[in-house]
Amino acid sequence: MNRETAIIPGQPGRDTKRSGFGPGEAPRWADYSRCVHCGLCLNACPTYRELGLEMDSPRGRIYQMIQVEKGRLPLGGSFVQHIDLCLDCRACETACPSGVEYGKLVEAARAQIETNYHRPPLATLFRKLFYYEILPHPRRLQLLGALMRFYQRSGMEAALRATRLLSLLPGRLDQVADLAPRMEKPFFYERLGTTVPAEGTRRYRVALFAGCIANLSFARLNDATVRVLAKNGCEVVIVGEQTCCGALHVHAGMRDIARILARQNVQAFAGNDFDAVISNAAGCGSVLKEYPLLFEEEGKEFHESARAFAAKVRDVTEFLAGIDLNRKLGTMKLRATYQDPCHLGHAQRIRTAPRKLLTAVPGLEFIELKEAEICCGSAGVYNVVHNEMSNRLLEGKMRRIAETRADLILTANPGCLLQLRAGVRREGNHRRVLHVVELLDEAYRLAG
Ligand code: SF4
Ligand code: SF4
Repeated sequence: MNRETAIIPGQPGRDTKRSGFGPGEAPRWADYSRCVHCGLCLNACPTYRELGLEMDSPRGRIYQMIQVEKGRLPLGGSFVQHIDLCLDCRACETACPSGVEYGKLVEAARAQIETNYHRPPLATLFRKLFYYEILPHPRRLQLLGALMRFYQRSGMEAALRATRLLSLLPGRLDQVADLAPRMEKPFFYERLGTTVPAEGTRRYRVALFAGCIANLSFARLNDATVRVLAKNGCEVVIVGEQTCCGALHVHAGMRDIARILARQNVQAFAGNDFDAVISNAAGCGSVLKEYPLLFEEEGKEFHESARAFAAKVRDVTEFLAGIDLNRKLGTMKLRATYQDPCHLGHAQRIRTAPRKLLTAVPGLEFIELKEAEICCGSAGVYNVVHNEMSNRLLEGKMRRIAETRADLILTANPGCLLQLRAGVRREGNHRRVLHVVELLDEAYRLAG
């Protein structure tokens, strides 16, 4: 089979270190030595299933990390290629009987690459701009969001698509453009710093983690999350000083900037007696719960603060399934299926909670999706950077979804929503794609 080609050129780059790991955080013996090379993770791994290559399997990637550590393989182009192609979906963690925490390993390997490998100038520029100059800065994000909204709403986007100019551009930019999120005015940033009272008797006081890009492109999902929480007796505090969670940075190996963002968030939510800090994004929630890992080797004091914060973080489905749910839900006569977001199912091990919530909706017929635990190909910015592999995974996912004959596809992560909606558009079919919390919001509205 053909190998995947990256849109953002990642290889060949310049090797700065020919053997052994360089300075900075690196995969640790204590973590990778738990791998007994049994291979039970191979068929759970989306890239191995597509390519059939050992080097693109979890076991193969761990083997390459060990070879680099021992100085038998350079920290160079080949290593980077195989580590970059990993989705960080962590399906291998679920499959592994030895308890290998592969996410830790790949994120540390990427930290090594980030520190000790020179990517080509264009890739470096793109990464610096996106990860350092845009994501951590709410004002810049809002400006970009406003410009993009103008492009989407003014007719410019439609006109450009009609010319088919995008398909003449190099790489697969026409397909990538298809994944661009719609900007939703008013942006959710306007609600930061406000508090929404509980409907009826207050049972809980929770904080909402709103995300970064989600404030622009999933503003209505955030609104729906607040409404559903309020319907369930929650006073919802939308803390003003919160910022990007740093998940994309952690996945890219940029741990220093991730630590800066983590500190800001931990401090923003500290000092309030919240029952929970709620996230509706599996990728964000997963990294928020893992903030202590970023401070393991730092000052003990902040590690403790990160642990106290992480202990309060709940995915919105986890929280709602764990309380006495308000059952005043309207009837929705729909056939629905559910795709497990990797960072909910594999990283947070939350699989029952979303199913429990969606089956609480009267009239809803739930059909299990075969291989619901296999990544849809979204994986943060993976669908942009590795568009070809991402599309292969999405095509497989859409085939499985078609088998269910569901009218409604449910999931619990904004990135998966974008990816699955792109899949539905490409197929030109009628299916709706919703977050579980949006389903509940509609059901509450129907009940009046
Ligand atoms: S990661 Fe786990 S499942 Fe995979 S080869 Fe190693 S021990 Fe076996
Ligand atoms: S994280 Fe996902 S893509 Fe990466 S090795 Fe594990 S199963 Fe494969």
